[in-house]
Amino acid sequence: MIKQNLEKIKQQLPSNVQLVVVSKFRPIEQLLEVYETGQRELAENRVQEMVTKYEALPKDINWHLIGHLQTNKVKYIAPFVSLIHSVDSHELAQEINKQAIKNNRTIPILLQFHVAEEDSKFGLKPDEAEIVCKQILELPNIEICGIMGMATFTDNETQVRKEFKLLKDIFDNLKEKYFNNKENFNTLSMGMSSDYKIAIEEGSNLVRVGSLVFE
Ligand SMILES: *Cc1c(COP(=O)(O)O)cnc(C)c1O
Repeated sequence: MIKQNLEKIKQQLPSNVQLVVVSKFRPIEQLLEVYETGQRELAENRVQEMVTKYEALPKDINWHLIGHLQTNKVKYIAPFVSLIHSVDSHELAQEINKQAIKNNRTIPILLQFHVAEEDSKFGLKPDEAEIVCKQILELPNIEICGIMGMATFTDNETQVRKEFKLLKDIFDNLKEKYFNNKENFNTLSMGMSSDYKIAIEEGSNLVRVGSLVFE
């Protein structure tokens, strides 16, 4: 099933859109099935689970962290993480920068924004975008590659669309002000199983899909 599911999803993605398979809570055997199709981008939302799976699986997998990251856990993923989608404070970015230096590397990140109606402690507010972006730009071993966000979990397509549009606006504004000639600021991570088609219509170029792959 996993192979067929993946093929079906990939057929629907425009060529500029990257698929990241969200493998949280799934067992190693299922991740191997995904791996055998050639898929190399996997995402987890918990540090411990990601480390365990990283250790158990082939080393050419690119690991994305998409869940809330506590500063005291950055050190466990700093040696190998491929992209951290969930950076939502200067303090967290400072710790990532510190651990990146220790590991003699640059760590790519996305700024996470909270645009959904649901209460959440996580994600920057849209009006914090510029100030936090400016602070993080000072950190030498962090590369800001774009932004990430989630829409409200609802059947109301108008609302979902509106929230994705807001994320796209934030992305475009930051791009214009701080990354004009910087090719690496190029990732708009939005869309999951229930809403990735709308997200792509609104400009997403990275979708994070879990349930549709494994169910
Ligand atoms: C779980 C999760 C996803 C994937 O959700 P599905 O509905 O399983 O596709 C995407 N993004 C984040 C941040 C998640 O936590």
